[in-house]
Amino acid sequence: MNILIINAGSSSLKYQLMDPETGVVSAKGLCERIYIDGRLTHNANGKKVVKDIPMPTHSEAIQAVLAILVDPVDGVIKSTDEIDAVGHRVLHGGMEFYDSCIINDEVIAAIEKCIPLGPLHNPANLMGIRACQAVMPSTPQVAVFDTAFHMTMPPVAYRYAIPTEYYKNDSLRRYGFHGTSHKYVTKRAIELMGRSDIKLVNCHLGNGSSLSAVKDGKCQDTSMGLTPLAGVPMGTRSGDLDPAVAQFVMNKYGMSADECLNMLNKKSGVLAISGVSSDFRDIEEGAAAGNEDCALALDKFAYEVRKYIGSYAAALGGLDCLVFTAGVGENSASMRARICQNLEYLGVKLDPEKNNVRGKEAIISADDSKVTVWVIPTNEELMIAQDTAALVNAAK
Ligand code: AMP
Repeated sequence: MNILIINAGSSSLKYQLMDPETGVVSAKGLCERIYIDGRLTHNANGKKVVKDIPMPTHSEAIQAVLAILVDPVDGVIKSTDEIDAVGHRVLHGGMEFYDSCIINDEVIAAIEKCIPLGPLHNPANLMGIRACQAVMPSTPQVAVFDTAFHMTMPPVAYRYAIPTEYYKNDSLRRYGFHGTSHKYVTKRAIELMGRSDIKLVNCHLGNGSSLSAVKDGKCQDTSMGLTPLAGVPMGTRSGDLDPAVAQFVMNKYGMSADECLNMLNKKSGVLAISGVSSDFRDIEEGAAAGNEDCALALDKFAYEVRKYIGSYAAALGGLDCLVFTAGVGENSASMRARICQNLEYLGVKLDPEKNNVRGKEAIISADDSKVTVWVIPTNEELMIAQDTAALVNAAK
């Protein structure tokens, strides 16, 4: 089976052609500068091709992708008929979507309804969906939502303690993000542990970071909220904050709400504390060279992640398994060690040698650790491809 995975942004579109059974990616690439001029970067058959192609809308971008996939030299398939289905990444499913689903007119209307909750991403995701429908009208399209995995959270986790009218009228609540990644590593953890009745905390630590508390494969709580700004500090996002901080800086510096949110989303996090970079590699280098602000940024990040792990162990009533994934979680042994420091009381004991691993599935806890600690590289594209294939096969 060939599944085309599409992640459409406002001026870009990422794609992969994948076999959902083997996870083999036969081609992948990126359309950039849509609406400006247009550039396609395509990787297949062991080589990279860059082409400037006019892309006045997402439609021309999709057409360029399909053209290169069937190109006799750079392509990997003979005809677009060999694409069995398209899986679209969609940011916000609001309270409309509890799972991935085959796209029809009702689904499009419901994604549109969620635009106030995901004002930057959902319109772009819809443009990608409509462009695919226009150029491949008989190919099934599936929407996979970043929020869906977290929809099993109970009200105690998802309700905000603010007047009920905002929940009832405006759907303001915790949603959580990175759901496709949390779903993938949960599925792998259950497979690797050989049982589904585990109390699990997933740490997706990358440029954006989120944790989830999972019981019996179902999400019970997650650190991001109505938007991805909540939770632990991130590359450039503040994470959890007293909302009065926003009021203070807006009043004192004459900032609008949008300017303040921009500061909290783009100029905060470990970038702000380190004063050096949002990239954890640069910060680790800075700390190793004696920069105290970099050391504080790493300690602050580890401290907040550790606090979430502790609170989720309390929420779950115990902990069997702790998973690290995404750029930092998969690659930074020192950050994993920093986070797990002082978690022995919870039964988390890392093995320093086993922890010396990067980017592959491995147990990193000591043999006598009560909690099994894993590194599980995430694969959101594979999860999208598998969800898409399952839905399309079931509908046959
Ligand atoms: P992601 O958003 O999942 O792509 O993760 C990006 C983050 O992972 C960046 O901050 C990188 O610096 C970080 N990262 C990648 N490799 C390493 C590494 N070997 N050590 C520390 N951080 C890393």
